[in-house]
Amino acid sequence: MDSAIGKTGGCQCGAVRYQLTAPPEMLYVCHCSDCQKQSSSAFGMSLIVQRDAVDFTEGAEYLKIWDTHGGDGQLKRCAFCPECGTRIYHASADDDASISIKAGALDDTGWLRPVAHIWLQSAQPWLVIDPDSGPCFAQEPDDEADLARLWQQQLAQA
Ligand SMILES: [Zn+2]
Ligand SMILES: [Zn+2]
Repeated sequence: MDSAIGKTGGCQCGAVRYQLTAPPEMLYVCHCSDCQKQSSSAFGMSLIVQRDAVDFTEGAEYLKIWDTHGGDGQLKRCAFCPECGTRIYHASADDDASISIKAGALDDTGWLRPVAHIWLQSAQPWLVIDPDSGPCFAQEPDDEADLARLWQQQLAQA
C-alpha cells in the first residue's frame, strides 16, 4: 500500500505539479459522454483521493476552475491548467473531503488498476473489457463503498 504514496503527477506543460501524500481511495473508469468530452478521448479515469493528500508542489495558483453539472444535476467543479488545458481534478464542492484526480496525468500510470467500469451504456462501441477486470455497470454503481473495498483489497495484494 505504501507504494501508492508519493506518486507525482502534473499537467502536460509542467506548470502544475502535485504529489499524493496518502494512498488513493479508489480508481474507476467512467465511460459517460461527459468524461469522453472532458478527456477528448474514449473514457475518463477517476482516482479518488483525500483532498488533503494532494500536495500541489508547483502551480496551484495557476489552476483555473470551471463549473458544470452532472446528469444528476450535481455540481462538478473542474480544475485545469489554463496554459495547456490538462484537466487535473474534479470535485463536487470546495469543501469535499475527497476529490477525483484525473489519473492519466500521473507521471507513472503503470500501477493503476481500475476496480470498476461505469456508464458502459455509452462506452465506445469498439472497446472490449475483460470481464475478470472487475464489476461493470451500465450507469452509476449501486454502492461505491463496495468499489472502495475492492480497491483496498487490491492495494493490499500489490
Ligand atoms: Zn499545463
Ligand atoms: Zn463520467
